[in-house]
Amino acid sequence: MAPLITDPEQLYISLLENFKVAQTNFLNLRKALFRTLQGDHFLLKLQYNPERIRSTAAQIDEKTLKERKCFLCPAHLLPGQKGVPYGSRYTIFINPYPIFDRHFTIPDQSHIPQLIEGRFGDMLRLAKDFPCYTLFYNGPRCGASAPDHFHFQMASQGVMPVEKEIENWTVLQNNPSYQIGTIENYLRKIIILKSDQRIVLENLFLQILSLLRKNIPSEPEPMINLLCWYTSSHWNVIIFPRRGLRPRQFYAAGEDKILFSPGCVDFAGLLVTPRKEDYNRYTPELLEELFGQLTLTDKTWGKIYPSLCTLTPSLNL
Ligand SMILES: [Zn+2]
Repeated sequence: MAPLITDPEQLYISLLENFKVAQTNFLNLRKALFRTLQGDHFLLKLQYNPERIRSTAAQIDEKTLKERKCFLCPAHLLPGQKGVPYGSRYTIFINPYPIFDRHFTIPDQSHIPQLIEGRFGDMLRLAKDFPCYTLFYNGPRCGASAPDHFHFQMASQGVMPVEKEIENWTVLQNNPSYQIGTIENYLRKIIILKSDQRIVLENLFLQILSLLRKNIPSEPEPMINLLCWYTSSHWNVIIFPRRGLRPRQFYAAGEDKILFSPGCVDFAGLLVTPRKEDYNRYTPELLEELFGQLTLTDKTWGKIYPSLCTLTPSLNL
């Protein structure tokens, strides 16, 4: 399975042509404000981006989803929006409401639910076919604004802080064909996998999903955000297991309200804030409190951690 266009820059330029909404929003993105927050063991980049209010505040209850026109279905594309097929199953679009200079959305060609099982291998293939890019996946209850329509997203490699921070990881298992690790004392619990063998990663990923299913909310699948990229002849995979979608402050009124509804990109350390008041008020302490409501408790992590140290791919290698 290979993309029809192998040069992502050419792909971006061709998809942006005549796509007015995206042209405007990619230009506006250059005016987005940024600042960084340094915690004791983490760095966060904050982006003030009012256009992302649609995604951050998206209602994803069943009734709303049924009544809205699905923006990932071919029948409801925006004026000028076009895509290119990838393999037999996916289409590559540019995201009309970008967070990144290069931001693609890769939905299934059919309107079927966001579930990762059976798709992780596709994600690895995409990462290898687009080696300067990072693929990411929001679970249906972990930030996906279209949980009813399967999709990946893709952005230029190296923009999200976690991509750099995993250099300081703790290796839990070091084998010739794979490594498993984490980052200690991080703002959120993180599982890191590295391998140059796709079949090994697919097998480990399935086992980790099964492990998570026993320990975290798992309806319709274990709550995760997932990233992967290919560099130096191997894949890097990051799994953020979660126990919640939004913190209590999201539902508060008045001054207590914080529009914090993190997806993969936010867990990866690039915090997208559509409201100026939130952008200004974030501190490392406040973000520890917010992420603390959504990431795993130490108690739950303590049940998962020993298994990460002993997992082995159930394959004849
Ligand atoms: Zn759809």
